[in-house]
Amino acid sequence: MPKTELKEYIVMRNREIENIRDLDVYLANGGYSMAKQALTSMTPAAIIDEVKKSGLRGRGGAGFPTGVKWSFVPKELNPKYLVVNADESEPGTFNNHEIIDENPHQLLEGIVISAFAIGAHVAYIYIRGEFAYGARFLEQKIAEARARGLIGKNLFGTGYDVEIYVHRGAGAYICGEETALLESLEGKIGQPRLKPPFPAVAGLYAKPTVVNNVETLTNVPRIIEKGADWFRSFGTEKSPGTKAVSISGHVKNPGNYEIPLGITIREFIFDWAGGMRDPNLPLKFIIPGGASSNWLTEQHLDLPMTWDDMAAAGTMLGSGAMVVLDTSVPVVRAALKVDEFFKHESCGKCSPCREGTHFLVKVWERIDEGHGRVGDIELLADVGKQMLGKCFCPLGDSSVSAVNSAIKFFRPELDAAIDAQH
Ligand code: SF4
Repeated sequence: MPKTELKEYIVMRNREIENIRDLDVYLANGGYSMAKQALTSMTPAAIIDEVKKSGLRGRGGAGFPTGVKWSFVPKELNPKYLVVNADESEPGTFNNHEIIDENPHQLLEGIVISAFAIGAHVAYIYIRGEFAYGARFLEQKIAEARARGLIGKNLFGTGYDVEIYVHRGAGAYICGEETALLESLEGKIGQPRLKPPFPAVAGLYAKPTVVNNVETLTNVPRIIEKGADWFRSFGTEKSPGTKAVSISGHVKNPGNYEIPLGITIREFIFDWAGGMRDPNLPLKFIIPGGASSNWLTEQHLDLPMTWDDMAAAGTMLGSGAMVVLDTSVPVVRAALKVDEFFKHESCGKCSPCREGTHFLVKVWERIDEGHGRVGDIELLADVGKQMLGKCFCPLGDSSVSAVNSAIKFFRPELDAAIDAQH
């Protein structure tokens, strides 16, 4: 049993209420009453204020305060759009998947409230291409809610319209980056845009746009229902609330967990996820926030899982994707797999990333295949240096995480891998 109990679920209410994906069950449990309350008795400014007070931070990775993001949208420019990032493509992340499959109406209710708060009448859910079932399922759930007057025109007799459309991507990881997502939604090649201007001012079709993650918006109805102070009773002062985290790799109980923010990595791995799968194979390293994040080792087990603590340790909480690896994993192979992913997903727009990821894979590959050369580790570090901070978007930098982490924590193993080949 977890040492720190979760008082109640905020986003994964499907774990408490059987079949909450069914509209009647959702309605019987207070569903859509928060949307009604928000639209009939709250002003958009009051909703934004409550979300600001709650301290809700974006759950997609950056952890930017949601209410503050909403307040950047210029009131005088119309139309405005709400775009839901359901692209969930980070290796190791599958928690949005569960929310969409098992608690879809809470997400849809969150979209209605959030669209009203920013003054949008249209919301797009941009869902990853491979997630065909989720896309069809959401369309079905939207149709059900629309048929009951919960989505669409004249909501709750207020005269306010909110329409929600599902748009399937074509399977590119880079479309999880918000400006590439907007390009793709407009029917163009999914490549990042130069910022500024930021989407809040010139986003979809050059109109003010808020892009929020699935989990972020799923929190909103509960914040309206129970208030900012209740939300702040979970988590820490700077990282309030809970986080849906996917854990995979060599743990006994991989899967999704909704954790109160601030528990330690040790607690999460050993008390929540059951500890290491094989008692004879101890923990070697952790990829704590998806393939993009810098690795951690046993020395970091007491790190609290918050945005700020993870950042202070040089890594990130990311979208909640922890991969735990034991001593059976060769570091070279792990780094190769991570960088193969980034090479494959590089959109090709800028040369440091397009060429750099290619070079990283080439060098990792030859070491892995037994043809490593003296100086290859220095070469990897040098290529990483040429990439870090010089790429057009964060994907390029992300591919250097595996290189720098492997060199920082496992230099003797890397050297041994090359020495053994000479
Ligand atoms: Fe594309 Fe990579 Fe450049 Fe980002 S860093 S724009 S993914 S080539």
